[in-house]
Amino acid sequence: MNDKDIFNLARTLYPGSKLGNESEYANFIWRSKHPLPGKAMFNAKEVLPRLLVAVKAQIQWRADCNGEFRPEWKHFQAWINNRWWEMELPKSKFICWKCSKPSTRYTSVKGKDTYFCSDEHKPEFIR
Ligand SMILES: [Zn+2]
Repeated sequence: MNDKDIFNLARTLYPGSKLGNESEYANFIWRSKHPLPGKAMFNAKEVLPRLLVAVKAQIQWRADCNGEFRPEWKHFQAWINNRWWEMELPKSKFICWKCSKPSTRYTSVKGKDTYFCSDEHKPEFIR
């Protein structure tokens, strides 16, 4: 698998709008040496394997939103140009008290919400 194919894995999975792989890959290589004002140059070879990982993580982050705000997917080219593969995802506020997985189920005790992911992790102190 060559670099362009590896790039295409991330491009294909990316849920936002995008151009064909030739155009997007050409932009990626160009931007590595000609970054937007205020952005740093990058080593395309080093960044390449991180793209798919970042797209997957950001898809999961949106799936686990639990009503928290998530920005719209940008055009893929804007995502590349602004180095969004670097995004450090904030931890969800709604995580299981026991295993720290994102959770939607909760119970309120004395006005304090406690989140849990499953019946097994339902707090025992609730009777
Ligand atoms: Zn849990």
